[in-house]
Amino acid sequence: MPKFYLTTAIDYSNGDPHLGHALEKVGADCIARYRRLRGDDVHFLMGMDEHSQAVIQAAEQNGKSPREWVDLMAARFVDFWARLEVSNDDWIRTTEPRHHEAVTELLRRIQQRNRDDLYVGDYEGLYCTGCEEFKQPAQIVNGRCIEHPTLELVPTRERNHFFRLSRYRDTLLRLITSGELRVDPAIRRNEIVRLLEDGLQDISVSRHRLAWGIPFPGDPDQTVYVWFDALINYLSATGFPAPGYERLWPADLHVVGKGITRFHCVIWPAMLLAAGEALPRQVWAHGYVQWEGTKMSKTAGTTVTLADAIERHGPDALRYFLLREVGFEADGNFSWERFDERYTADLADGLGNLVSRSLAMIGKYREGVVPVVQQDTSLDEAARKAVAAYGRAMDACDLRGGAEAAWELVATANLYIQQVAPWKLAKEERDTELDVALAALARALYRLAVIAEPFIPAKAAGIRESLGVAGGTWESLAAPPIRGAATSRPESLFPKPSSV
Ligand SMILES: [Zn+2]
Repeated sequence: MPKFYLTTAIDYSNGDPHLGHALEKVGADCIARYRRLRGDDVHFLMGMDEHSQAVIQAAEQNGKSPREWVDLMAARFVDFWARLEVSNDDWIRTTEPRHHEAVTELLRRIQQRNRDDLYVGDYEGLYCTGCEEFKQPAQIVNGRCIEHPTLELVPTRERNHFFRLSRYRDTLLRLITSGELRVDPAIRRNEIVRLLEDGLQDISVSRHRLAWGIPFPGDPDQTVYVWFDALINYLSATGFPAPGYERLWPADLHVVGKGITRFHCVIWPAMLLAAGEALPRQVWAHGYVQWEGTKMSKTAGTTVTLADAIERHGPDALRYFLLREVGFEADGNFSWERFDERYTADLADGLGNLVSRSLAMIGKYREGVVPVVQQDTSLDEAARKAVAAYGRAMDACDLRGGAEAAWELVATANLYIQQVAPWKLAKEERDTELDVALAALARALYRLAVIAEPFIPAKAAGIRESLGVAGGTWESLAAPPIRGAATSRPESLFPKPSSV
């Protein structure tokens, strides 16, 4: 069984998760569930970045110690991800001892391999507390950070430890252009290639004496810069430096937002090269969830809460909407109108209606038992095409394409019912034809329950349960094992609320 080690960005613990966080976690979860379906030994990591200065500020504002505050935040994030059915295998917090140990050891290895990769120097620049990063002129518009136009940049001058990032430019350019380190989608890869072609400056990797953070090895006056610290979480969670961590490392896929590709495609691989560690295989950078064309985030003051969005039509509907409509490859818009439309058309009238009509007819005409006939129909042919298109899209992290392929099968199956008109076959006592049609519909439902699972896990489980079958493997899609299965009528999968 090939291993598949998948991570998401770890989030700052300075406020509740929003829709942008949710898109990333749900998208990564969809990939994790799909890889499990394909038979991979998936290890899915998520966690919290707890050493940022924003934590100290948020804790103070709420009358708590940083420790109390991060504990509270971690519990809130865990609760939201559980509600959204995110199936991560591990949850790392950068305040854990296992992480401290890995950060210290990675810095030690960098020092050992190339003595001058880390050096002391003076830094003067404009610091964004939203990004926790010194900003370059190209990242500043109207005197503000591009990502955080509502925050003031802080002029900072310090003596810090520096990492000789410039040394790794040529190697990174070669690895990324050759595809040895895959950066996707292509628009993000091109941005990184341009950035590398423009040349790299060394970066400061410590801050002067912060009370909250990991002390810089060999220099207690300095604290490890929060980004340098945070990136190492992906390695800490493998058990590094204890023997056996290579069972998971290198990561097969880092899922991140498009705003932090420089950290994941430049700084992180350079750190690993400097320490002599293997590089991740792929970085996927998703876009932002926008609200009327602007980035949705706490600092931007957007008011749609994740709790409201989950409440609207339930967690599965939100997962589906984020991945199908907002999308995982570029920026996309969220609006209540569009969410309601998708819910009604794709889920209530589409999949929900198909499941309910098909099972009702199997119940009415065959006492709930799937007819034992094995005749291929046009619906089976359409299903095989849909499964193939779904697999191609999902392999390429094209989650929107995967959902489209699955829901095309929903539309085809609903059309099949209209064309074949089983009620007419029943009335005219054309029993063999009725058996063939009902069995074909049951196979379509089975296939949909399997391929829609990464998008709508709870509802897909409900469909399988109504079909009287457990689990569902990729291999079983060729010939669904449901002949003679005893089905039952489900509760309405996607009820239409009166407000819609
Ligand atoms: Zn910023």
